[in-house]
Amino acid sequence: MAYHRVMELLLVEDELEIQDFLKASLADAGYEVDVAGDGKTAESLASAKVYDALIVDLGLPDQDGIDLILRLRHLGVSSPVLILSARRSIDDRVRGLEQGGDDYLTKPFALAELLARLRNLLRRNVAATASPTFLRVVDLELDLLKRRASRGGELLNLSPQEFVLLEYLCRHAGRVVTRSMLLAEVWGMRIQPDTNVVDVHIYRLRGKVDTEGREPLIKTLRGVGYVLKER
Ligand code: CA
Repeated sequence: MAYHRVMELLLVEDELEIQDFLKASLADAGYEVDVAGDGKTAESLASAKVYDALIVDLGLPDQDGIDLILRLRHLGVSSPVLILSARRSIDDRVRGLEQGGDDYLTKPFALAELLARLRNLLRRNVAATASPTFLRVVDLELDLLKRRASRGGELLNLSPQEFVLLEYLCRHAGRVVTRSMLLAEVWGMRIQPDTNVVDVHIYRLRGKVDTEGREPLIKTLRGVGYVLKER
């Protein structure tokens, strides 16, 4: 990272044992940590200060962590959110990611993994705010002003819709994006209709971006969505 400002985190967790353990471990790792034991406290802390990232447990005493994340997003809190939860099903994960979570870790977790995921979120956040007109993932480059995409220096012939789709994938590189997220963000549809429009466009986009002889960047996660490879 280019600068050494201390990263500030908000940990939202009601289980005291995990709260203490994480607070101490994160402080050891060099982070400054505020702790909230319920959603209401988390909301007032997060609206008073801009955190570099939030770690949110889904099972909170006063509300569902997903509802908290939704509420924070509505309030304009855009810090990356790492969801912590004992719920392990794909449905829960998809729901968490769709409602504004950026990554998901199931309990029990290894501290090393939590720290690694956190570093990823923070790094991506810094990168995203640093260069808003130009995106690069591996050898894929997007010029957001000229609306031009290229791979390995070779211009890609994309339709405007394909460009928007690729831009969304690039902005979320390394993170899982679901079909519903794409429908909502790229096509502006809030309710997922019975449509294969996403699959069709991904298929076409892949045909242009991941041509033969190139490292495939657009990955499908069966039943979940897509992820654009980061490195
Ligand atoms: Ca809990």
